[in-house]
Amino acid sequence: MGRRRKRAIRTVKRTLPSVFSCPRCGNISVRVSNDKDHTNIICGNCSLSKTYETAHNKEPVDVYNDFVDWFMKSGVIA
Ligand SMILES: [Zn+2]
Repeated sequence: MGRRRKRAIRTVKRTLPSVFSCPRCGNISVRVSNDKDHTNIICGNCSLSKTYETAHNKEPVDVYNDFVDWFMKSGVIA
């Protein structure tokens, strides 16, 4: 038989999504940003936001999951 199918070339860098959908307004406009002491997460559409003191180096997606969880629990429904 011939050669095996080529492997898809993957970039080594993890390219995790950095924009997420907002639990309040539904727009894909939630961004996670880090500065040296904090992790900020904010929706660019409705300004729902939360700041975490970054002692833990979470992945953006973990921060997002926490954010959604917080939002659901807090019942901050617009
Ligand atoms: Zn929003």
